[in-house]
Amino acid sequence: MSKLVHERLQRLPLRDNRLLIAGRHTAELVAIAGGSPCYIYDRDTTTETVLALRQAMPESLKLHYAIKANPMPALVDHMACLLDGLDVASMAEMQVALGSGMDPEHISFAGPAKQPVELSAAVAAGVTLNVESELELERLAEIAARQGKKARIAIRVNPDFELKTSGMKMGGGPKQFGIDAERVADVLSRLAADCFDFQGLHIFSGSQNLQAQSLIDAHNKTFELAERIANSTSLEVRKVNIGGGLGIPYFPGEKALALDGIAANLAQLLGRRGPGLAQAEIVMELGRYLVGEAGYYICQVTDIKMSRGQRYLMTDGGLHHHLANSGNFGQVLRKNYPVVLADKITGEAMECVEIVGPLCTPLDIVAAGVELPVAELGDYVVVLQSGAYGASASPQGFLSHPPVRELLL
Ligand SMILES: *Cc1c(COP(=O)(O)O)cnc(C)c1O
Repeated sequence: MSKLVHERLQRLPLRDNRLLIAGRHTAELVAIAGGSPCYIYDRDTTTETVLALRQAMPESLKLHYAIKANPMPALVDHMACLLDGLDVASMAEMQVALGSGMDPEHISFAGPAKQPVELSAAVAAGVTLNVESELELERLAEIAARQGKKARIAIRVNPDFELKTSGMKMGGGPKQFGIDAERVADVLSRLAADCFDFQGLHIFSGSQNLQAQSLIDAHNKTFELAERIANSTSLEVRKVNIGGGLGIPYFPGEKALALDGIAANLAQLLGRRGPGLAQAEIVMELGRYLVGEAGYYICQVTDIKMSRGQRYLMTDGGLHHHLANSGNFGQVLRKNYPVVLADKITGEAMECVEIVGPLCTPLDIVAAGVELPVAELGDYVVVLQSGAYGASASPQGFLSHPPVRELLL
């Protein structure tokens, strides 16, 4: 068993060598979900994660949930009760966010290439649009005039730095995200006061980072950049969304992020803000960190075969439901997510198996070369750390198998 699986299991409730998620055995969960494959999200785990984060972070820091990590409506409703706001990246996500009862004032809508219908919906709803281009701003002025109301906006800034060691870089250099930092002062100077209700700035530089020091560096640079922009404009900067980027461990050798250094640095940054940001609400937006660990992908072994000495466990679930686990969602080198047999956590006899799915492509890997107790037909395979970028980030239509079930308990 890999050290990561081992560490993760230390924090999982097990009984009699069996996994218990939300207090239930896997067969029971599958029955409730209406069959396998399914995702199970454990509500209590998300609650504990949010509470621990709040405990660690400075009290005045606002915490938002970026719902693209997992937009399941029941989960979003739950997160809305725990957090200060929701960040969305499409009109449908915005509608889910509104449905949670979150005040539109605390919903922000980011994302490149927003379509006119999305811009109109957002202005009408009164959510904050994080503007990604100068043309988007012109379109918003027209929409605001047509609706006879002001568009609530923040400027998404493409920073002049990168988040080092980040899984996915989303700022620095030329990018489709945001308006280049060096152009923002000019853009703000031309902002028509009668069309816009200016909220502030959004500076998001990357995601899935497990290096505290590089997050600290990014926060330092983000505050510095925000302060510089705030000092260059006569408009009041009421909010600064500093992005997120906190990662969770997936692969052998990765360790959970230590929050204390990050939190202490943020407390300092909050404390020594200059006049340009003194009144601003500082927001951190997180997706994966809040829900990743709370999710489990369950599939069932439906065929077993030997091929030239290699044992294959063939399951009803795979890449079409869990693209990231298959290694095809931004990874450079494929590695296994932590994976277990639900009802045989440890075993006397172990075997090294390839676990694959039902798709007619060699990319459809659930786990490659993994050491597990000897499996039988009907056993459930559980992929841990699967609460973020799972069902909604997978090509469910590919090969026309049934969509995956999702359950929040
Ligand atoms: C995707 C995204 C997030 C969430 O990133 P995580 O790595 O899941 O925390 C936050 N903000 C923006 C603007 C995003 O695009």
